Amino acid sequence: MSRPAPALETEFDSDVVIIGGGMVGAALALALAPLARSGLKVTVIEPKPLKLDEADKTLQPSYQPSYDARASALSYGARLIFEQLGVWDDLSSVVTPIRHVHVSEKGQFGITRLNHKESNVPALGYVVENRLLGQCLLGQLEQHKEIRFRCPAEVQAMQAVEGGMSLTLNENGEVSTLRARLAVLADGGRSALGESLGIETDVHEYGDTAIITNVTPGKHHDYVAWERFTDQGAMALLPLSEGRCALVWTMSHELAAERMALDDNTFLDTLQKRFGFRMGRFTRVGERHCYPLSLKQAREQVRPGLVVLGNAAHSMHPVAGQGFNLSLRDAVALADVIKDNVMARKSPGALKPLLGYVDDQQRDQLLTMRFCDLLVKGFGEPGMIPAFGRNLGLAAMEAVPPLRRLFAREAMGVGSIKTPRTEL
Ligand SMILES: Cc1cc2nc3c(=O)[nH]c(=O)nc-3n(C[C@H](O)[C@H](O)[C@H](O)COP(=O)(O)OP(=O)(O)OC[C@H]3O[C@@H](n4cnc5c(N)ncnc54)[C@H](O)[C@@H]3O)c2cc1C
Repeated sequence: MSRPAPALETEFDSDVVIIGGGMVGAALALALAPLARSGLKVTVIEPKPLKLDEADKTLQPSYQPSYDARASALSYGARLIFEQLGVWDDLSSVVTPIRHVHVSEKGQFGITRLNHKESNVPALGYVVENRLLGQCLLGQLEQHKEIRFRCPAEVQAMQAVEGGMSLTLNENGEVSTLRARLAVLADGGRSALGESLGIETDVHEYGDTAIITNVTPGKHHDYVAWERFTDQGAMALLPLSEGRCALVWTMSHELAAERMALDDNTFLDTLQKRFGFRMGRFTRVGERHCYPLSLKQAREQVRPGLVVLGNAAHSMHPVAGQGFNLSLRDAVALADVIKDNVMARKSPGALKPLLGYVDDQQRDQLLTMRFCDLLVKGFGEPGMIPAFGRNLGLAAMEAVPPLRRLFAREAMGVGSIKTPRTEL
């Protein structure tokens, strides 16, 4: 039974405003739903319109950055979080489980195989099309009428004021001001608002582009996720519904431009040459999209009345499928800090607890970013770790179960998992 949160004074329009209703902003809103039910004013602002699905009368995302053609690998830890957020029931019908992971380097001896049974979990992770994940998150948010959704609306500017932040909103050409005790900046990797606030970011450009698409292999994927490192870049093939696989294929910008221009059959032939025939012959390919890759981290993630979250705070190489999973862990940790603040009758934007949040999360962020970076550089950049050493590492992992389980825990996102506390 939840106790009502103590009321806060009311000179602000909102207690918490989330700027960006993408995957991360929407997940944070869900984590704050119990507090919103008890009176905390939570507002989500999103510029890309949601459209009403005439068939089932639910709101669906129109094309927008978070809910695009990509598929995401959700860690087992993400499943535990989604269970707590009440999304897993819907999500479980549209995800494909990853039961095995196979990591190898083209033409080398070392391989590592991870198995869900060894880790004692029903699946090591799950793959979901972002569009469907968006439907589940927004569908669940729709049930929480106490959370205000201002959409389509864009935050054009923001500035610090005594006790919080003041936002300039543009809603269909109408400009207004919204004052919030805490503004959470979840406006994505090209956070123009973060820049306007002078938040600097450390950026390492990989000089690579990821081509993403769906392919149909000749053999059923059998719920195996393949991570393959080649001399031209990393490649992940993740199991999807209807026997399809989601492909994330990274390579130099030049090579990506060439491969994006190929017709479907030539593209499939090229993929086949690089991946081999372990999954039979690739027969179909979907629409191709490409994303330039970098490792990015904001130098400041909190200020009084402000938190930077999701891609606006950090983004990394997608080969290990960790970016959203990490942001989800940040989001629930932040929701817990906000709950503690409210229960202690402090403003949700009070700086000291927010600094504690960053302190805690930065360990997870650094570990996860290093894990991805090491995978990419260790295998991708010639000379970084000699081929023999890399393959010895893979072979050692294959031979030493505790080492393999450690690797699996990191990949499953349960190394440093916290699930949201639902009670007040
Ligand atoms: C190729 C690729 C594959 C990936 N695969 C995986 C994977 O398998 N697993 C995984 O965990 N992660 C993966 N990721 C990472 C994951 O996609 C990101 O972590 C995630 O999309 C970040 O979501 P976000 O909500 O922070 O940002 P975004 O998705 O960019 O959303 C930002 C939102 O803010 C809104 N917005 C922008 N400006 C404003 C404004 N001024 N006012 C209000 N709203 C605004 C936008 O409309 C948008 O809805 C992958 C990334 C890439 C590039």
